[in-house]
Amino acid sequence: MHEKLTSGKGLEKIESPRYIIFGPNAISRISDILYNLEMTGTAIVVSGPSVTAEIAEDLVSSLDGEINAYHVTTVEGGIDDVLNVIEEATKLKANFLIGVGGGKPLDVTKLAAAKLEVRYAVVPTSASHDGIASPAVNFSLSKQAKLKFGDITGRMEAPTAVIADTSIINKAPEIAFKSGFGDLIAKFTAVRDWELAYKLKDEPYSEYAASMSLLSAKIATDHASEIKARLEESTRILVKALIGSGVAISIAGSSRPASGSEHMFSHALDMISEREGVKPAPHGIQCALGAIMMAYLQGQDWMWIRDKLREAGVPTTAEEAGIRPDMVVKALMIAHKIRDRYTILGVSGLTPRAAEKLAKSTGVIQ
Ligand SMILES: [Zn+2]
Repeated sequence: MHEKLTSGKGLEKIESPRYIIFGPNAISRISDILYNLEMTGTAIVVSGPSVTAEIAEDLVSSLDGEINAYHVTTVEGGIDDVLNVIEEATKLKANFLIGVGGGKPLDVTKLAAAKLEVRYAVVPTSASHDGIASPAVNFSLSKQAKLKFGDITGRMEAPTAVIADTSIINKAPEIAFKSGFGDLIAKFTAVRDWELAYKLKDEPYSEYAASMSLLSAKIATDHASEIKARLEESTRILVKALIGSGVAISIAGSSRPASGSEHMFSHALDMISEREGVKPAPHGIQCALGAIMMAYLQGQDWMWIRDKLREAGVPTTAEEAGIRPDMVVKALMIAHKIRDRYTILGVSGLTPRAAEKLAKSTGVIQ
C-alpha cells in the first residue's frame, strides 16, 4: 500500500492541470480531450441546479461511446452534495468526475474526487473566481469538509483538465466578470500579506508562486477597460489570469499567494450575512472592497487599486456592492479571527474606531 504524495519534510510537490483548453466551443472537443488524458469509462458529471444543469445535460449527450456519463445536480453546493456525489460515484463505479459550473459545483467535484481518489475535469461556466484551476475550495465548504472527513486539503488535487469554453463563459451575467476581476486584484494584497508572514513568522514562502500570482493580477489590471467590455479576447485574458492564479495556489501548495486579509474580510462578511439572513455579495466583489482597505493598511497605492476596479466597472463602495455599512465595519473587526493566517490585521485586529476610520478613509463607506 502506497501513501498519497503530499508536501512536507523537505519534499515539495507541485500540482498543476495537465490540459488547459480555451476558446469558443472548446466544449465540443471534450471527448477528444478526455480520450487524450485516458479518462474513459464511467463519469459523473456534477452541475448546479439550473443553468449549469442544461450545459451539463448537453455535455452528457455529446460524449461519445468511450464514456458513460451520468449527471448529478447539486442543491446548495454544501457537504450534503459532496456526500451525494460520492454515493452515486461509488454505486456506478465511476472512473472520474467532471464538474460543470461557476463555483460551487466545481468545489463539490474537487472534494468528492479527493475522497474517491479519482481524477476530474472542470468546465467553468463563468469567470468569477480563481478556483477554476486550483485544488482549493471555498472557505465555508472547506470548513464543513474538515468536520466530516478530517484534514482532506493535503489530498486535494488540481483538475486534470480545465475546459474553458469562452462562448459559454461570455454568456455569464456581468457581475461574474466583475467578481473575477475583483478576485484577481486581491492578489496584490494577498501576496503582500504572505511576504509579511514570511518575514515576521517565518512562514514558508515561494517567490515563484508569489510572482505568478502578481503576474495574473497585473495582466488583468492592464486590460481593465477591455474586461469591462466583455469581448471574446478579454474574456480569454480574464480566464487565463484566473487560471494562472489557481496554478500559483497549486505551486505554493496553499492558498497563500491568492488569499490574504482581503479574503478574510470577505469570509467575515459571508459569516455576518448568514447570521443576519442577508444574501452576501459575490466573492470577488467583497474581496475587491477588502483589497482597497487592506492596501491602505499595507501602505500600498490603494487609490490605484480602486481606480483599476472602477475602470473594470467593479463596485468600490459598500453601497454599490449592496452591502450594509455596519456590516463592513463589523467584518473588519472580526476578519483577523477568521482563520489562523497571519496578515496585516495582526493578531488582535482592528478596534471599532479604527475599522470605521479605515472604511471611511478609503471611501468604502460614507
Ligand atoms: Zn478568491
